[in-house]
Amino acid sequence: MLFSQLLIPTLKETPSEAEVISHQLLLRAGFIRKLSSGIYSYLPLGLATIRKVERIVREEMNRAGAQELLLPMVQPADLWKESGRWEKYGPELLRFTDRHARASCLGPTHEEVITDLIRLNVHSYRELPLNLYQIQTKFRDEIRPRFGLMRGREFIMKDGYSFDATEDGADATYRKMHEAYHRIFSRCGLAFRAVEADTGTIGGSFSHEFMVLADTGEDTIVICKECEYAANMEKARCQTPPSPAAPPLLAIEKVETPGKKKVAAVTEFLGIAPKELVKTLVYMAEDKPVAVLLRGDHEVQTVKLANALGVHTDNLRLAEDKDIFDATATPSGYLGPIGLTIPVLADSELTRMHNFVIGAGEKNFHLLNANLNRDFTPQTITDLRQITSEDRCPTCGGSLELTRGIEVGHIFKLGTKYSEALKATFLDHQGTEQPFIMGCYGIGVSRTVAAAIEQNHDKDGMIFPLPIAPFQVILLNLSPKDEAITAAADELYDHLGKAGIEVLLDDRDERPGSKFKDADLLGIPYRVMVGKSFSEKGLVEIRDRSTGSTLSLPLADAGSKIVALVRNQ
Ligand code: ATP
Ligand code: MG
Repeated sequence: MLFSQLLIPTLKETPSEAEVISHQLLLRAGFIRKLSSGIYSYLPLGLATIRKVERIVREEMNRAGAQELLLPMVQPADLWKESGRWEKYGPELLRFTDRHARASCLGPTHEEVITDLIRLNVHSYRELPLNLYQIQTKFRDEIRPRFGLMRGREFIMKDGYSFDATEDGADATYRKMHEAYHRIFSRCGLAFRAVEADTGTIGGSFSHEFMVLADTGEDTIVICKECEYAANMEKARCQTPPSPAAPPLLAIEKVETPGKKKVAAVTEFLGIAPKELVKTLVYMAEDKPVAVLLRGDHEVQTVKLANALGVHTDNLRLAEDKDIFDATATPSGYLGPIGLTIPVLADSELTRMHNFVIGAGEKNFHLLNANLNRDFTPQTITDLRQITSEDRCPTCGGSLELTRGIEVGHIFKLGTKYSEALKATFLDHQGTEQPFIMGCYGIGVSRTVAAAIEQNHDKDGMIFPLPIAPFQVILLNLSPKDEAITAAADELYDHLGKAGIEVLLDDRDERPGSKFKDADLLGIPYRVMVGKSFSEKGLVEIRDRSTGSTLSLPLADAGSKIVALVRNQ
């Protein structure tokens, strides 16, 4: 392809609306343009990259035995009413009525449509298992579309759904998808981890998120430095090693702590460490107050707390001062577990603490030497806190690291949630009607491109992993008016094209400096330059975008060297 003929509207300045680097670079390199909030056009280079990701996804899904189909984007409300999600899904579901006043929506995901298709067309265990996928534009009316392709309203997703006759079969399919996802993201050239995820309200039995590691990721994840363990914060189990031998339990003692409310202020005033204090927080769970006890330096993990209480996170919030006073008759800051009449949940770490400080339940006072089960007894003691890098790996005991990731894929074992709701059944080998056992498997294709850039860039631009780069080689004709240089560049271009290498020939009448800048910005893995060195010494230069290493060699050898470089990776 010729640069001069492609639509590549590069920008010199960073657009002010773009906060994250992938968004900035995708705009600057002319890969995408915004149409309206969260809605983008994919220009030729952006689409080329997306197609590369799609191709890898297709190959690996097909290899794992899945079949491609394409489902409608417009979906009837009736199906969503059957699953119960017409009410539950919330405003992200873009709803509308057609000319016949039929309520419809734009598909944010396709569990309903595929389950309907299968219930109408598959009737026997003999036709199972089935694993079906599509690559399609999804619409979610995100409240805060942002970061370009990272969180759009319209975006490209691969979504797959499996139907099995038995639990074992469904588990095997899940494992196959897990492996396929590993291959997909490895082949994309990305550093990633599969993390255990919370199954939340979908209510599946297990789930993994695939996270591309990048400092700019929205999600914090915890990974073990010594084994493969990785989990998101909601799911990361905090180990509670057995308590060391308890010291003598001291008598409780009330002390004045005038005006000291925050953990830092109280502990500083008392000359103790935050880990020697137990804080008492109040949450409103479905508008009813509950107290949560936690070591002073620990934080609540809201999803763990919601799960422990059996409520949805949307119905859980930290109580306001007024709620706290109404529920406990104590001003916030001095609250303690003794004498509370609301339900009390304690984090497991408390079982390892002795003679700690708590609020006295009275303004300006705290208690020293409080002890669990001697002075107060919580209704529930369980893991409620955010894991920290001081915790040990729950799998191997190794040390942990908190890092950031971008969710590019998500796999779920759904079980019979949708098949039961939609009455999608088959006859098993005994002739008994059974609901299909389902799984669902998503990949954010357009988000994967953004994540690849978040992970791979420098101050000059993007650095695409070779397998997903829009072109493998950018060939710079540094002097289009010079006949010898142009002839050499054209010859090389032909040679590479015949060898099946994807080359973008920069034939524009621009200064070398601006061609170098654009080549770096576009992030194409190999930059080949035909210019002054060729006129003077017959040499062509090859530069590796990621390492910056340069190689000079005669024109006659350049073609085969480039082919070897591209193929060997
Ligand atoms: P998130 O938690 O980021 O909102 P999700 O859990 O709602 O995502 P899924 O329903 O699991 O997303 O969708 C499958 C995949 O689609 C996600 O792993 C992600 O890569 C991608 N995806 C989801 N929402 C968006 C979006 N608004 N823009 C781009 N990609 C998205
Ligand atoms: Mg998800």
